Amino acid sequence: MVLDCKQLFDIPGERVAIDCLLDLSDYELFSGKPFAEPVQIKGIAENRAGIVSLSMNCSFRLSLLCDRCLDAFERQFSYDFSHVLVQSLHSEDDEYDYIVVEDNMLDLDDLALSDILLALPVKNLCKEDCKGLCPVCGVNRNTETCECLKKQVDPRLEKLGELLK
Ligand SMILES: [Zn+2]
Ligand SMILES: [Zn+2]
Repeated sequence: MVLDCKQLFDIPGERVAIDCLLDLSDYELFSGKPFAEPVQIKGIAENRAGIVSLSMNCSFRLSLLCDRCLDAFERQFSYDFSHVLVQSLHSEDDEYDYIVVEDNMLDLDDLALSDILLALPVKNLCKEDCKGLCPVCGVNRNTETCECLKKQVDPRLEKLGELLK
């Protein structure tokens, strides 16, 4: 969605409600296309005493593969973002704090996508304590048990065990 910000910039007190869907079903991320459903964007853009701000919530569900055990899982995400919108910058230092809206047209989809990419975790785990795959036989250690790692006793501990006998 492209938001026309002309009135927002011109009229103090002006408010625009945002409620739209962003289709990212073709977007590639984490070596797949995880956005099975559109991202729901809800928010408000308003001019308060001449300062135009945008607050939005992006909620969506991702179909992911666990980085440790490679199992498929889905997770719901919900992020709040806010920005100050300006028509131009006064100094280059401000670049990171403000969103410059060129020609009064703000591409909300682009902004939401870059916000989401910055907010997403770097690692995707099916659960906090995922045990992953056995490096020896490859079973999923969350659902199966194997003896591989038990057999590999640290040789130093083995020595210690002998001494204690
Ligand atoms: Zn896992
Ligand atoms: Zn094993």
